[in-house]
Amino acid sequence: MKPSKQIVIIGGGITGLSAAYYIQREIKAKKLPYTVKLVEASERLGGKIKTLKRDGFTIEQGPDSLLSRKPTAMKLVKELGLEDQVIRNATGQSYLLVDNKLHKMPKGTYMGVPKNVRSLLSSTVLSSKGKIRALADIMVSKGKADTDQSLGAFFRRRFGNELLVNQVEALLSGIHSGNIDQMSLKATYPTFLELEQTYGSVMKGLSKTMPKPTKTKRNQPSSGAFFSFKNGLETLIHRLEDKLDLGMLHKGTAVDHIEKKNHGYHLLLSDGNVLQADAVIVSTPHLTVPKIFSQYDFFHVFKGVPATSTANVVLAFDQSAIKNDIDGTGFLVSRNSNYQITACTWTHKKWPTTSPEGKILLRCYVGRPGNEDIVDLSDDELTDIVLNDLNKIMKIKDDPEFCVITRWKNARPQYTVGHVERLAEVRRKTERYLPGVFLTGCSYDGAGIPDCIEQGENTVSEVLRFLQD
Ligand code: FAD
Repeated sequence: MKPSKQIVIIGGGITGLSAAYYIQREIKAKKLPYTVKLVEASERLGGKIKTLKRDGFTIEQGPDSLLSRKPTAMKLVKELGLEDQVIRNATGQSYLLVDNKLHKMPKGTYMGVPKNVRSLLSSTVLSSKGKIRALADIMVSKGKADTDQSLGAFFRRRFGNELLVNQVEALLSGIHSGNIDQMSLKATYPTFLELEQTYGSVMKGLSKTMPKPTKTKRNQPSSGAFFSFKNGLETLIHRLEDKLDLGMLHKGTAVDHIEKKNHGYHLLLSDGNVLQADAVIVSTPHLTVPKIFSQYDFFHVFKGVPATSTANVVLAFDQSAIKNDIDGTGFLVSRNSNYQITACTWTHKKWPTTSPEGKILLRCYVGRPGNEDIVDLSDDELTDIVLNDLNKIMKIKDDPEFCVITRWKNARPQYTVGHVERLAEVRRKTERYLPGVFLTGCSYDGAGIPDCIEQGENTVSEVLRFLQD
């Protein structure tokens, strides 16, 4: 019998937990002589996935849903037997707040980008001049495909600044809390580059490739593009934790430092212990990596890669507290509006099971690149700011029953221009100087939860290949 090899996973967010789950499954199925340990700094698992139950409400303090279109997440959900817990978002009208006015989200768009000329011409957030400039997308010549560029530069060149600021930026940068003029086109939305390169125009490409909307039967609500669970996203975390063998998890312990030895690695833990490892999966965000591997200069490049901060402000009301409620599921705020909130979801409408009958649950974000200091204001200050903004578009006559404020400091890793090449270089050097160390998770190959699950699963294949060599 071969001596057992040890795999250590650092970080118990969704990436680390998915990796732990898949590796345990492989070890059991193939009777591999490996042991696994997962080391998590905090006392709880889940990382950014955090659900709070309060007074009959289900409140998401971090992410609120998963994109259904990406198959890896649903595959895991089925495997974990959680299908009967899945809920889909109710579809409804969403809005863009542009120049301080609410507009219905323009129809016929993909991430705010018009799929055809009709959609562009019918947009209510663009002036005639803005529409004429945006039409140029049909004629503007292709850019270079090999050098990366920012989303801002790409869309400004093809459609002009007005479409970028009024219609696209709030969606594209909002999802990642990123600066549109720093975000890498290649790493965040490569589809737009491919469409430009193949069809010579993004609009032409979208109209040729995007599926036509399917008609739903009358009186039958259309099913949403996102999913969650009846009891919130932490359902996934709890089920993964239940599936992992006792003894695998080390919570409340951080990995402070890693040293390379002749055979494998020594991980110095915050409780003074040392763990030996033959392979290490590092699923913590990129800013922790230069600290853990301080003697390896090639990780220092991560210090210059930003992670932005936001705060999530959730307000619960009785229905009677709100007058002039808007018929919709939420809105995004363009940068040219005099608002501090960047987005608001009418959670009780989008996810009806989150709120008791007769109650209202609003979930707002503050903090955009350039205005991140706002996240450090006190709870009272943030609540006042959010209520003040909301009162510009609806009438709130009573105080909220309660507020839940969650600050996410340096929590949104940014895929800035050059991300793909920078990461490839770091990985090349990691393979050369630290064989058996694998970087995975939200800072690298996609920050959405399905992307993180997929990375966890893919990293397991890489680790097994490495250990079997
Ligand atoms: P994390 O969740 O950051 O987990 C990393 C873990 O490593 C943490 O538990 C941390 O404590 C631990 N750790 C750190 N340092 C050490 C150390 N030295 N030793 C041991 N452990 C350590 N995605 C969606 O798909 N849908 C959404 O609606 C959505 N909304 C979001 C809203 C917010 C406010 C945020 C912040 C993110 C959102 N995302 C969303 C993105 C998504 O939630 C994250 O990208 C994903 O959860 C990250 O998972 P992860 O495991 O890679 O990292």
